[in-house]
Amino acid sequence: MTTISNRLQHILATIQSAQAISKYQQQVKLLAVSKAQSASAVREAFTVGQTSFGENYLQEALDKQAALTDLPIEWHFIGPIQSNKTQPIAQHFSWVHSIDRLKIAQRLNEARPTDLAPLQVCIQVNVSNESSKSGVSPHDLASLATSIVSLPRLKLRGLMAIPAPTHDINQQQAQFKQVRQCYDALLTKGFTLDTLSIGMSDDYTIAIAEGATIVRIGSALFGARPLPNISR
Ligand SMILES: *Cc1c(COP(=O)(O)O)cnc(C)c1O
Repeated sequence: MTTISNRLQHILATIQSAQAISKYQQQVKLLAVSKAQSASAVREAFTVGQTSFGENYLQEALDKQAALTDLPIEWHFIGPIQSNKTQPIAQHFSWVHSIDRLKIAQRLNEARPTDLAPLQVCIQVNVSNESSKSGVSPHDLASLATSIVSLPRLKLRGLMAIPAPTHDINQQQAQFKQVRQCYDALLTKGFTLDTLSIGMSDDYTIAIAEGATIVRIGSALFGARPLPNISR
C-alpha cells in the first residue's frame, strides 16, 4: 500500500536529485498542498516530517487549523484572495503566495497582528496571458513590488505562478523561464528576493531546473483529492 509517508519520501528524493543538477544550486522547500484533504491527512503528513502546508480556501483552512492547533504547522495561503477575507488570512497564515493587486496587499498589511512576524508574501505573476485571470501581468509587476516593499507588516519574498496546464514539457519549461525572467528583472532593479514558488505535482522537476525554491505539491503527496471543494 502506498502511504503518505512513502509518497513523501519519494517526492523529497526527487526534489533532491532535481536540486543537485539545477544550475541555480538553490535550496528547494516542499509545500504540501492540503486543499480538499482532511485534517487527519495533514496530521499524518506532519507526523512523518512535513511541516509546511498550503491551503486555497479560507473557511476550509480555518476549520483544519482549528483541528490541528496542537501541531506547529507553517500555514501558507495560496488561493485567490477576496478583499473581505484579508483579515483572517493576515491572522492565521505565515505566508501568502497569491497577492496580485495593491489593495489586497494594503489590507493584509493593516490586518497583520503586530505580535506576529511580518506576513511573508509572494506576488502572483500571470505568464500565461489568456488562460488564467489570476496574477499581475509582467508589465505591472515592478510597480506592485515597489508598493509592497513599503508596507511594514509584509515581507516581500518573491514570485508565485500557476502556468497554464500542459503536458508539453517544452511549454512548461517556457512558462517557467518567463517567471524566472520576471524574477531576475526584479533582482536587477534591486529588490531583495529569495523565493520562486513554481512547480506542482506534474511539473516540479522542470520547475526546479528553472530555479524554483518552493514547489507546491498536492496530489502527488496525498493522492487524488477526495473532498469536493465546497468550502469556498
Ligand atoms: C491545487 C494547487 C496546487 C497543487 O496541485 P497538484 O497538482 O495537486 O500538486 C499547487 N498550487 C496551487 C495554487 C493549487 O491551487
